[in-house]
Amino acid sequence: MKVKDGITGLVVGDALGVPVEFTSKEVLDENPVTGMRGNGTYNMPKGTWSDDSSMTLATMQSIVQKDGIDYEDIMNEFSLFVHEDKYSQYHTFDYGNTTINAIINFDNGIDPLKCGGAGERDNGNGSLMRILPMAFIPGIDYETIENVSALTHAHERSRIACVLYIEIARSMLSEDLEILEHIESACEKIRDYYSDSDELVHFKRIFENDLDEVESSGYVMKTLECVLKCLLTTSSFSEAVLKAVNYGKDTDTVGAICGGLAGIYYGFDDIPSDWISDIPQIDEVFDLCNDFESFCKK
Ligand SMILES: [Mg+2]
Repeated sequence: MKVKDGITGLVVGDALGVPVEFTSKEVLDENPVTGMRGNGTYNMPKGTWSDDSSMTLATMQSIVQKDGIDYEDIMNEFSLFVHEDKYSQYHTFDYGNTTINAIINFDNGIDPLKCGGAGERDNGNGSLMRILPMAFIPGIDYETIENVSALTHAHERSRIACVLYIEIARSMLSEDLEILEHIESACEKIRDYYSDSDELVHFKRIFENDLDEVESSGYVMKTLECVLKCLLTTSSFSEAVLKAVNYGKDTDTVGAICGGLAGIYYGFDDIPSDWISDIPQIDEVFDLCNDFESFCKK
């Protein structure tokens, strides 16, 4: 089941990264993450996921319960995540500034599509980390993917980054190609569709596969570059995701975004089963994946 492949990959990548978020690459080079750890940055139990997984699950739950994309309802679920710990195993932690500002706007009655930050400094990876469910919805258009990003991250750079990520995922879901071919195929679509956009200059390194020097950071372009580099230079789910986490800094989000694609590309059976069984409440994630897959098949 492809939804389960991708979403489990995302949750596993997130949970691997949570205990070492903000740790430098140099420190992780000395003591790399090799599996699930407890405690660490947030002092949470082993297998704890963060906002990346929670907001992905919130999006899926909304789409299942509304039988389609309802921006108001998605924002309502995001608000419940922040204020009532919904979609967290224990309690909510680790959401970004642009995200919380958008949710406060929504709580204050602002139209959901006008809540997201649209400034250049609002280009964190906070919509890219939760956009993966869009890849499984047949016939989804770019405007809808952009709108789902814009609920929290409305700048064009973040919106295009989400569309590019979804196109890579969709290529992996529909065609049997090498990773580089999936990326190139998706890049071609983005270059074509957004040919008039000044923002494409920020995608140049990805378009040209100029990824020798990458770093983990909360900036959406740095995140995407780092994720693609990890996918392009490894040959299994665990290699890709551990490489992503061990870049340090924004470990959970880079791990989650990498894990989503790696899960789709390599399949559920390539995700180490002991990592999966280390995640509390993973059965609830699987149930939601089932429901979401049923929605996508209608
Ligand atoms: Mg996080």
